[in-house]
Amino acid sequence: MAAACGRALLAPLGGRMRACPRAPLRSLTAAAPLYDVVVSGGGMVGSAMAAALGHDIHFHDKKIALLEAGPRKEYHLPESYSNRVSSISPGSATFLSSFGAWDHVCSLRCKPFRRMQVWDACSEAIITFEKDDLDDMGYIVENDVVMSALTKQLDAVADRVEVFYGSRAVGYTWPLPSHSCDTSPWVQIELADGRRLQTKLLIGADGHNSAVRKEAEIQNIEHQYDQSAVVATLHLSEATDNNVAWQRFLPTGPIALLPLSDTASSLVWSTSHQHASKLLTMDKESFVDSINSAFWSNVNHSDFIDAAGAMFRSALSLLKPSGTGVRQLPPSVAEVDPESRAVFPLGMGHAAQYVRHRVALIGDAAHRVHPLAGQGVNLGFGDIACLAHHLSAAAFNGQDLGSLKHLLRFETERQRHNVSLIAAIDLLKRLYSTNLSPLVLLRTWGLQATNALPPIKEQIMAFASK
Ligand SMILES: Cc1cc2nc3c(=O)[nH]c(=O)nc-3n(C[C@H](O)[C@H](O)[C@H](O)COP(=O)(O)OP(=O)(O)OC[C@H]3O[C@@H](n4cnc5c(N)ncnc54)[C@H](O)[C@@H]3O)c2cc1C
Repeated sequence: MAAACGRALLAPLGGRMRACPRAPLRSLTAAAPLYDVVVSGGGMVGSAMAAALGHDIHFHDKKIALLEAGPRKEYHLPESYSNRVSSISPGSATFLSSFGAWDHVCSLRCKPFRRMQVWDACSEAIITFEKDDLDDMGYIVENDVVMSALTKQLDAVADRVEVFYGSRAVGYTWPLPSHSCDTSPWVQIELADGRRLQTKLLIGADGHNSAVRKEAEIQNIEHQYDQSAVVATLHLSEATDNNVAWQRFLPTGPIALLPLSDTASSLVWSTSHQHASKLLTMDKESFVDSINSAFWSNVNHSDFIDAAGAMFRSALSLLKPSGTGVRQLPPSVAEVDPESRAVFPLGMGHAAQYVRHRVALIGDAAHRVHPLAGQGVNLGFGDIACLAHHLSAAAFNGQDLGSLKHLLRFETERQRHNVSLIAAIDLLKRLYSTNLSPLVLLRTWGLQATNALPPIKEQIMAFASK
């Protein structure tokens, strides 16, 4: 009941699904092979979904297909780091371990980090997160390394999971919730090369422009940010332990330096589109200078905010003498890897519904977030862990995998988790995109107070490490 009400609130316009056969049904279903599950989209999230189901004991007699528009990529660990990396949470690492993929990641390469320092360019406000024990806070992993590990684990279950590379899904025909003898009970999928498949459950993992979401007429709340992210692989001026993830909020957007090795780090710099294009085309020396000054310069400070912040900090240190973390200085950057600079436009999106009869959305197809919290793919892995759990139970109990009964449980659990996180990330992005004094003061005090309260920091860390 609660779930149904929630869906109504989230999707006031959500209509029933269309059943729009593009071809006479009898000929279509006669020719098309039937799969228990088809995952559309073989990025990090879709590949992990197919691999997780393929390794599930309760799916041993099920047929799964993974459709990926791009080609299969054979991966040989290159000497230089890729410019596309993700901060992987401990919870995601545990999920990837559950079907053997994390061992491959570790045997290729990944960099654990033990501390995070986030600070404001308009004031002295700072927040640090670190583990008291020797646990890792997270891992910086190249996306290609994650994909290579997932491909290995898909190969290991090739008898259960058929992967169709170079296969773009171009059309879907939806079944009606109650079918007659003239209509197919399954989702029909048409590929660009004319082949057809049918499935009891279609999982849309086809990214933020999801065709599955659009064709299922699921409403998506979305907007483009006025920012693009510039990524690059950087070399540090000198070798360090390099186990800290650094992020500074500039008025134009956050800049992050994520560790890759003792001498290399990855840059994610979110800034205005105009500044991003300038960063992409400027010479290497100016690019490196811009990064160092973005981390080190106090040009955005004002005497008033500094004084108000210092007073508040002194008051906090009287109340909580040991509550604030130690400020460390970020490493300085010496060089950028040639050809490693690239730019990505940023946006946010959230599907009003994650499921329909015989359809589920996961990953960026269901939600897209700003990279400032490094949560996008982690949310996607969280979706998979939840959906795989409910599908496994349904398979064990011999239930229909595409039934709304367990799909709605997945939707309720994940929306409860994702909506609050997505809203918090969006709020942070807005709060830090200004240098208006009252807002700077508000966030300075907020950050200082949070930094002085270990229980709140622990809760934030626990939430982000899922
Ligand atoms: C600059 C930047 C930094 C980021 N940093 C982090 C980070 O540190 N941590 C983090 O957790 N997240 C991060 N993210 C977010 C993360 O990259 C995404 O959330 C994640 O890649 C989404 O994966 P996905 O598989 O859902 O979608 P995608 O990666 O978009 O994959 C979709 C796949 O579906 C395929 N496809 C599309 N349409 C079809 C079709 N019709 N038929 C067949 N195949 C199809 C595509 O070829 C593609 O392979 C970052 C994002 C950006 C832009």
